[in-house]
Amino acid sequence: MVAYAYRDSSRTDTLQAKDAKHSDKSATFYCPNPDCDAELTICNLGEHAYFSAKPSKPHITYCEHASHANNYHRYDEASFDFEKMLAGLLIPTLGNPPTTQSQSNTARKSSQTTSFSSIRTLRMLYILCKNKQINDEYNGNIIGRMLLDNRSQPIFFKKGVFGNAVIECISWKYDETKHEIWARLQNQSYTFVLKFEHTDLYQNIKQLIQKHAPATYGFKNVQLVIAGTWFKYQNKFNHFETIIASKKQIIAV
Ligand SMILES: [Zn+2]
Repeated sequence: MVAYAYRDSSRTDTLQAKDAKHSDKSATFYCPNPDCDAELTICNLGEHAYFSAKPSKPHITYCEHASHANNYHRYDEASFDFEKMLAGLLIPTLGNPPTTQSQSNTARKSSQTTSFSSIRTLRMLYILCKNKQINDEYNGNIIGRMLLDNRSQPIFFKKGVFGNAVIECISWKYDETKHEIWARLQNQSYTFVLKFEHTDLYQNIKQLIQKHAPATYGFKNVQLVIAGTWFKYQNKFNHFETIIASKKQIIAV
């Protein structure tokens, strides 16, 4: 299920599912993910319309628009608060199991009381953002301001990323001495440095990335989504850093 798609395979002409007309029912559309060669058709018309992949041309395995991933519409939009949600993800968890247990219980409890039935996980927020266009809003939050990716960088993050934001990037390298993980925006305009307060968490995240890396790359080129509070890194041009205090701040997609 996808909320918008392209009319042409070169992906210049978009159509929102809700704006589709009867004449679009026999047309073929293209998945918003440029790496995915799925062909889509429109299902339903009006408010409940969505795009679905043809069985003969399905989404690629890791496409964020694949139907199994997309159920953000089940969450309550009216109670969604981006800043609160992000604060929930940043509650520290430690890497070693006994401490993690009690800390994550506390985190779970507090996020339930602050935002019950609204989107709470980074993965669901990411799926929501990728399924919408960057100028769309979700409970008053502009999609392109919540998620920094290749689409939103030239428009909403022209001068960099400062404060709370979710970024889509690819892994680059790590520094075993400083316990830093480096990543870059896909178009390589920005570099991100992840700093860790706890060695366990650093090792944990490093292993997560290595697990997702193609064998030939080792560590590089894993697509990551990271929630954080971002600052300029050591006065370096187009470098930004955040502290990783919780496993919930990073997913590999
Ligand atoms: Zn796709």
